[in-house]
Amino acid sequence: MEQVKCPGQDTRFWKFDDIFTLECPKCGAEIEFFKDDTRRRCAWCGHLFYNPKIELGCAEWCQYAEKCVPELVAERKAMATFKERLAGLVKARLADDPVAWKQTDKGLNLAMDLLKAEGGDPKVVFAAVLLHRLDVAQARELLLSLETEPEITEAVVALLTGTCEANDPSCQIFRDTLQLLKPDSGTAKQLVTRTARRLAEAQPVGT
Ligand SMILES: [Zn+2]
Repeated sequence: MEQVKCPGQDTRFWKFDDIFTLECPKCGAEIEFFKDDTRRRCAWCGHLFYNPKIELGCAEWCQYAEKCVPELVAERKAMATFKERLAGLVKARLADDPVAWKQTDKGLNLAMDLLKAEGGDPKVVFAAVLLHRLDVAQARELLLSLETEPEITEAVVALLTGTCEANDPSCQIFRDTLQLLKPDSGTAKQLVTRTARRLAEAQPVGT
């Protein structure tokens, strides 16, 4: 079968800066990325991390996109649906507390940056960040209403109750997101990941 190739995915149409180097978020080594690489494994420390500049070219819109990058398109669609539906439910629960929702929304953006660099399970992390202002019983109820897989629900609850494994990337990302959301009190934030420390230095996100 002939492989369908979108013009945006064809290296012959690429510009010189479509290949670039990125710093491994774990060890700092320089790793070469092609612009359509979704993720690469660091040759030095073995850490698998996402390309923060991922650009799918025409895969975002072209009618053949599902044939070019089927897993990625399907993954993105499923993820967007779950995240958006859960966000809608949480926003309704927090309707009389706009500040709580604003913080939650900010947390989603921070978690996104951390997930791209540090790995982790996006579904688990996004759900935990969305649900962190609710109590655990409410969180379970909302996840159940979306027919979330039981193992995902348990992983989310482990994050929310602080019983997750300290070396699990999803656990680390969730903890760092909450730390970054805390208002600056003068005391140093307890950050685990390199990326979170970089974000904390880049801007005072908690203010
Ligand atoms: Zn590395």
